[in-house]
This record gives sequence, C-alpha cells and structure tokens, in this order.
Amino acid sequence: MESLPHGSAKVVEETLDPEDWSDAQTVARQAVDDAIAYLRDIRDRPVWQNMPDKIRRTFQASLPHSPTPLSDVYREVAATVMSYPMGNIHPRFWAWYMGSSNFTGALADFLAAVQGSNLGGGNHAAARMDEQVVDWCKQMVGFPASSSGSLVSGGSMANTVALIVARNVKAGVDVRERGVAAIERPLRFYASDQLHSCHRKAIEAMGLGNRALQRIPTGGDLRLDLEALRAVIARDRAAGFQPACVIGSAGTVNTGAIDDLQAIADLAVTEDLWFHVDGCIGALIAIAPDNCDRVRGLERADSIALDPHKWLHAPFEVGCVLVRDAVAHLASFAVEQEYLGKTPRGLASADWLYEYGLQTSRGFRALKVWM
Ligand SMILES: *Cc1c(COP(=O)(O)O)cnc(C)c1O
Repeated sequence: MESLPHGSAKVVEETLDPEDWSDAQTVARQAVDDAIAYLRDIRDRPVWQNMPDKIRRTFQASLPHSPTPLSDVYREVAATVMSYPMGNIHPRFWAWYMGSSNFTGALADFLAAVQGSNLGGGNHAAARMDEQVVDWCKQMVGFPASSSGSLVSGGSMANTVALIVARNVKAGVDVRERGVAAIERPLRFYASDQLHSCHRKAIEAMGLGNRALQRIPTGGDLRLDLEALRAVIARDRAAGFQPACVIGSAGTVNTGAIDDLQAIADLAVTEDLWFHVDGCIGALIAIAPDNCDRVRGLERADSIALDPHKWLHAPFEVGCVLVRDAVAHLASFAVEQEYLGKTPRGLASADWLYEYGLQTSRGFRALKVWM
C-alpha cells in the first residue's frame, strides 16, 4: 500500500505471476527440450554415479535471502539435481522393484500443477477424473462399481487406509469415538512372514501394537501357509484374542511370491475375517491375459492396496486403496466440518473426496494415471 496525500490508499496488486511471461516461456521451452533429450539419451548415461563434493555442497547452502531469476534457478537444477538421479528410470536399473515414471505422466504432473486444483473434492472436472481413475482401478481388479476407493500417496498409505477400515469394522466397539482401549478382545491381523514392512507401521500407528500382526512362517514357496494360519487362529481364539483380518500378498517385495488368494478368501469366510490384499506389486497382473490366473481371488477381497507408481510406472506418487463396502470406508473417515458443507449447486455441491482417507488437501494424481 502506498499512501496518497489526502489519506486514502491505493492498493498495489501483488502477484505470483512471472515478471515477464516471455522469459518464463523461454525457460519452460528449454526445460521441455532438455527433458525430452534426457529421456531419449538415457542409455548413453550411467545408471547411477556418485555426486562430486562440489555438487553435494550445493545442497548445504543456506536459505537464500534475495531473488534469483528463474533461468539461473533452472540452470542450477539441471546441473545438480537432474545430473545425479537415483537411476530407477534407467533400463539397466536392477536395484529394487520400483516404478520408472514415464514421459506422458510427467506432462500430466506438469498440467496438474498448472491447473493447481485441490482434490479434496468439489464439483469440478479434476475431481470427476479422480473418481473415474478409481473406477478404472476397480474394473481392473474385478471390484464392483458399488465399492469405494481413493488415490493416495502410495502403497503404504493405501494399505494403512484399508487396515484402518478393517480394524474399525472388526473392533466390535466404536473405535473412532472410544479408541482402541475400548476394544474388548485384542484384535489379531495375520499375514505371511514375507509381508511388506508398511503393515507393521500401519498396525503400530493404529494403536494395536506390533504383536497384533502375526507373521505366519512360510515354507519353500514363500507363500502364506494356510494350515499354519488355521492353527494360529485357533490358538488365538482359545487365548481370548479376536482374529480380525488376514492380509494376502499379491506379489511379495522379497521375491514376488503370490499367496493363494482363493484359498485365503475361503478361509476369511469360514473364520469371519476381513480379507485384505496387498497388491502393490502384483494386483494389476489381473489385466494380463496370460497370467491373470495367478491373482484369482483378488476380486473377493474386502479391500485391496495397489500402486500405479509401480506396475503402471506412473511418476511418484500415486497409490490406490479400494474397499468393497463403501459405507464402512466412509464411516472410517467422514467428518463434518462447517466450512466444508455441501451446497445444492455450485462448486461445493459434490461429495468430498477427502472423506475416504487421511488427507484433506489432495493433489491431482489421477491425471498422470488417466493420461
Ligand atoms: C512397494 C510396496 C509397498 C509400499 O508401497 P509404497 O508405494 O512404497 O508406499 C507395500 N507393499 C508391497 C508389496 C510393495 O511392493
């Protein structure tokens, strides 16, 4: 604000726009040209190389206190960050099971950021596309249209959201109101000893304690041993525990072993357990004509975690949780907030997507999967 002689004030508009749009265009064009060359010529570069100290030191520079032109900022990023990647997008990266991004997805992330919509929900196109991508995930794994789901940061969050719903459904008390201390018989979750570590974090964060997650030893095939599982369930019931959930792995992180999902689905029915599938690696084999039999039974799960940033190679991050019982899913996360009420028409007239998980503001992850 600038004071005027007669005491009134003139508002000088402030903006985050670039000072000069044509400069911005030049840098952006350069970045796109460089990006295409980067991918096209990737085979000419090493998978990974150690950073020289000179580069490493640039990441120790302290907070800048004055502006730098975008073209200089971009030049620095190209020389430092872009030159020393993890390497997982390289065709000869064999370190871990990992997604490798893709150019279309990168364009999508750019456009999503340009539009800048918040996928907490609302009546706008990006929100409808978010729902559409969740619907496509349901279709790929054979889940009914009536099921629910949400795009999340990755498999860890997808598994966590599903296990929270499982806990709340199986607790026998209103856990949201009363907390886990009100659960009469301690809940037990079961999986093979090949289970991904994110489940442990989830169970601990859910207040159940690591022991609530029983790892069933596997044999030579590294798949869940159903006989052993039945014995542990019987022992637990006799000891006063409440068997609540069995987690099947559709592709373990150690070896890619796929549990017998049909047999686990049957057992879940007999033992009255929630059946969750960690399909972060292999759920999407369900769309492979020659190998879909390997994950048969997936479609009978109560919930599935899958990970489009792995098998679909979408740029990080995007995972997806699916829950067969949409009412139970919503009942685990819905909250009423005065400022997010629903209106009969306009932007606030649609269901809120943030009611299916832990985030409120959400990025437009759907676009990179959709495109
Ligand atoms: C990768 C993976 C996870 C965790 O997913 P993130 O996307 O890394 O959070 C969970 N389970 C399995 C089997 C995985 O391979």
